[in-house]
Amino acid sequence: MCAETPADMRHPNHVLDELGFRYDPNNLFQQTANALLEAAEILDLPHHLRLILAQPKTEVMMHFPVRLDNGDYRLFKGYRVQHNNILGPYKGGMRFHPSVSLDDIKSLAVLMTLKCSLAQLPLGGAKGGVQVDPRSLSRDELRRLTRRFTAALDGNIGVDHDIPAPDMGTNAQIMAWMADTYMNFNDHMGKHQARAIVTGKPIEFGGSHGREKATGQGLVYTLERCLPDVGIPMDQMTYSLIGFGNVGSWAARLLAERGSKLITVMDHTGAILNTHGIDAADLANYVVKHAGVAGYPKADAIDEKTFYETQVDVFIPAALEQMVHEHNASWLNCKVLAEAANAPCTPAAERILLDRGVLILPAILCNSGGVTVSYFEWKQNRQAETWDLEKVDRQLKKHIYTAADKSLQATRRFNVDLRTGSYIAALENIGKVYDMRGIFP
Ligand code: GLU
Repeated sequence: MCAETPADMRHPNHVLDELGFRYDPNNLFQQTANALLEAAEILDLPHHLRLILAQPKTEVMMHFPVRLDNGDYRLFKGYRVQHNNILGPYKGGMRFHPSVSLDDIKSLAVLMTLKCSLAQLPLGGAKGGVQVDPRSLSRDELRRLTRRFTAALDGNIGVDHDIPAPDMGTNAQIMAWMADTYMNFNDHMGKHQARAIVTGKPIEFGGSHGREKATGQGLVYTLERCLPDVGIPMDQMTYSLIGFGNVGSWAARLLAERGSKLITVMDHTGAILNTHGIDAADLANYVVKHAGVAGYPKADAIDEKTFYETQVDVFIPAALEQMVHEHNASWLNCKVLAEAANAPCTPAAERILLDRGVLILPAILCNSGGVTVSYFEWKQNRQAETWDLEKVDRQLKKHIYTAADKSLQATRRFNVDLRTGSYIAALENIGKVYDMRGIFP
């Protein structure tokens, strides 16, 4: 308990109270830490480990100037949060988005720790980003921003220390600029070693086959493993999508190959519906040209409420955090919610959905395909190898199936929902390693 915190602001979770958190139920980091601590309680994880895991190990925040094309300078705010590295080097994406904030990045770093553990990767959890709308910058400005941010990160990242990757608003080109900048500062270790500093690079520059579609592919493998339990055949599955960026559009194209039918899509430009099914590849081409789904001629425009209320087997949020909240959760008409995005449901929304018997496939399982293929890329770079797509997909499937099985087993063993089960499975692994290594000194 923190003596200075007024009683009405004290956190109901005793670990967060002990750490001095002022209770804020809408704060994403507190929500995430609370969910982790609830799983830790069920698992009976030692108290000191709960304290360690309820806070990131390192939080770096930096301000750096970038010259704009018109000659002016703008100051940007960048972050890198390293949550935990008991299992291996820190790993996690770099987000370029106007809403990037320290608390959100902290929360996403926690999820990366759990995700890496559940996916059986020898990696820890981190996340970072810059508060910027990348669409408002020219290509040259974006390159200068990326290089200056990478330089500002300096020794906080490293091939054996912390390995960034793409996230919302970043892509293979940005990873190439990050790697190139780092390689210019760190050529003592040899170019081929130094390029393992980031994953999600272009294939020609040390990227892995299958990395671009990896998160969507991981989602498909998760559904393949979990849907038989609830009696939904993938070739008859209907679904809705929020977000048609990298994750959503790849998931849709891969699900089309399995015969699943995309009924509605919503993104920042609007929502569309076609009960006969939306052609994912055709929509992806349209979105490249029109920057969003609005106006797509082969579907009807619908309002947000109709989007949420449309009956489907599986609802897939693949955009920002906290999109499904207490006001729209009761509109949903689905049997399964598959979290392709990180933390898309608020705790209040989750309670509503669980009470209605909706199966929630948690983000640390559903979207672990991205970091898993990142791990394959890092491994290929370090061993100077190139795996073909067939090997990447085969290995990815193995990791996802095992993660799903471990989550389902913990769910049954502790009689909890699947999110709690997946967190327990991830924490159990982390707890064992802490137990073996002990706390230094
Ligand atoms: N940004 C992705 C995630 O949230 C991928 C991270 C990585 O590849 O390291 O899982």
